Amino acid sequence: MTADYDAWDGTDPLTALLDASRHYAIHVRLLIDQLAEARLGADDVGRVEDAMCEVAEAAALAVAVTMGLRRHVRREVCPHYNLLTDAEWAPARDGALARGRAYGCELQPGHPGLHTAQFQESPVTRRGEWLRWGRAAGGEAVRELVDLPYCSALWRGADPRGLDDETCGLPAEHVGAHAVNNWLGEIPPGENAVTSQ
Ligand SMILES: [Zn+2]
Ligand SMILES: [Zn+2]
Repeated sequence: MTADYDAWDGTDPLTALLDASRHYAIHVRLLIDQLAEARLGADDVGRVEDAMCEVAEAAALAVAVTMGLRRHVRREVCPHYNLLTDAEWAPARDGALARGRAYGCELQPGHPGLHTAQFQESPVTRRGEWLRWGRAAGGEAVRELVDLPYCSALWRGADPRGLDDETCGLPAEHVGAHAVNNWLGEIPPGENAVTSQ
């Protein structure tokens, strides 16, 4: 995502994003009738596909870091998800978890407050590292990386020795139900109840 960063002229990034988006939309609309009639050769198909994927990925990244993304998922899962930028991931790269392609909110669907997804666990403190995003009470966008202990709720499995007990995988004091015993319905022993993506 840092490609051509040197070409950025220092305009405030939000204005630059809005300008770039407007210019792109105008250019494509001006071309659209000719594009519809264009006959693409075999090489052209690949070139167009590569270029459009690049545009789509850049657009998704812009939406992710400003407002967060949303997708169609089964009803038991909050549909909001997000991405980490390279700069956000860099300090976390030595932890136990590999970088995810995307991070789905792990809270109960319909929850109030910020969406929350774990992206790392500190090898030193054993606390989770979480990306939180959404709207503050005043409507402004929030995006933050926070270090939080885990929720201590425990779901007891069928094994009397506790071998299949599960702890809630969410951060302490999370909103909504615990991720181990109710909002996903009855969780059979041994099944992972946490919906990390
Ligand atoms: Zn959510
Ligand atoms: Zn919990």
